[in-house]
Amino acid sequence: MKLIQKVLIANRGEIAIRIIRSLREMNIKSVAIYSTVDKDSLHVMLADEAVCIGDHRLINSYLNKNAILQAAINTQAQAIHPGYGLLSENASFAKACHHLGLEFIGPHYKTIELMGDKQSARETIRAAGVPIVPGSKGLVSNLDEAHQQAKHIGFPLLVKATAGGGGKGMRICYDKESLSHAYQQAVLEAQTVFGDGSVYMERFIENPRHIEVQILGDKHENIVHLFERECSVQRNNQKMIEEAPAHNIKPATQKKLYDVALKAAHSIQYESAGTLEFIMDKDENFYFIEMNTRIQVEHPITEQITGVDLIKEQIRIAEGRRLSVTQSDLKINGCSLELRINAEDPYDKFKPVSGKIGAIHFPGGHGIRVDSFLYQGYTILPFYDSMIAKIIVHSSSREDAIEKAIRSMEELNIEGIKTNQEFQLEILLSEAFLDNNYDTSLVEKFLKGEIQ
Ligand code: ADP
Repeated sequence: MKLIQKVLIANRGEIAIRIIRSLREMNIKSVAIYSTVDKDSLHVMLADEAVCIGDHRLINSYLNKNAILQAAINTQAQAIHPGYGLLSENASFAKACHHLGLEFIGPHYKTIELMGDKQSARETIRAAGVPIVPGSKGLVSNLDEAHQQAKHIGFPLLVKATAGGGGKGMRICYDKESLSHAYQQAVLEAQTVFGDGSVYMERFIENPRHIEVQILGDKHENIVHLFERECSVQRNNQKMIEEAPAHNIKPATQKKLYDVALKAAHSIQYESAGTLEFIMDKDENFYFIEMNTRIQVEHPITEQITGVDLIKEQIRIAEGRRLSVTQSDLKINGCSLELRINAEDPYDKFKPVSGKIGAIHFPGGHGIRVDSFLYQGYTILPFYDSMIAKIIVHSSSREDAIEKAIRSMEELNIEGIKTNQEFQLEILLSEAFLDNNYDTSLVEKFLKGEIQ
């Protein structure tokens, strides 16, 4: 066992603070990194130490592997927590940590590599007996091949970047006439955003639900699942509201989901926190779409319903300790919702906004948790992610949790910038959401006025 006494956090914003909080409770020192423009950020103030690693450009700071590794060595940190996004799923960074004797708080770099490529992840997970969305065999490397494969897959279909993430590098195509355009657009976006133009194709499941299963594995082959999350409230293929557990799924389907997720995780000897994402059709057929080999934005709702601190578990696992829970210890307690508050304009294509925060009041009281990095006078910068706060509610039932969520959206007050707060309230109050009758098309249909 390797006791960790100091951890460098290779991230910023709310997740950096979330990690610092668990470290402090575990009596482990924290090192923050920051870019020049982030010097007034809360994560810098809350950490035990902070190192400036470069300017506002991601490639010079939060994605600057050498500068981050050097900071870890200089501050004598034994481990690096990557959070989510940024370098969290970068296999070469995890590998560099490994070679330098730094513990990367996440799975083995080979697992990240395998699952980071969506096409190889599909093949690996399928081989473990998990259903995947029907699609192309391997990558689709030119237009001729795209047309050939489309005959087998059928329309509508999706052209997807194998390096994709964050809803980017995906194009839907409804007929063979528009396939060339969709294919070229997907390749171009994949090349621009991920520096890798490789794409594959899969059937487009109409109006699916997005359901995902949280997994934890240690270095002793113990793997547990921590139930599922429903993440179908999405805008631009990015999550907006998440619920745990999912509602309206037959217990037999739930069990099947957990079994399949465990089988997949065992097949790759998964270590640390991870998530298997599925899409589910109306008949509750579900298909694997990807695995995230990191902590997720929406992890708090799982923590609320299980009582497990997932960040602490990740750290324990990195130290070589056994999971602190067994499968039979884990029970679903009530219902939890997370509302992502973004600095954006929902009525202008969710365009991100920046600016100085004026007065601020966060909701509180029974069953409310706020994970944020905001404070009065802080300036939201245009260089980074637009998510500025997560309001997490927990209660005994879905109805109660929704009431708390509505109350917290009414109570939240962020002055100085536009946010999606009002829009979140409208979605919470929509009939489809209240009636448990929605899928990934909810937000789009709501904006078009097709549902109330
Ligand atoms: P990313 O890695 O960019 O988040 P995912 O593969 O996880 O991409 O998909 C993101 C979202 O896109 C899903 O939650 C779902 O709403 C939609 N989606 C992905 N694949 C399909 C599919 N085959 N059919 C229908 N919707 C899909």
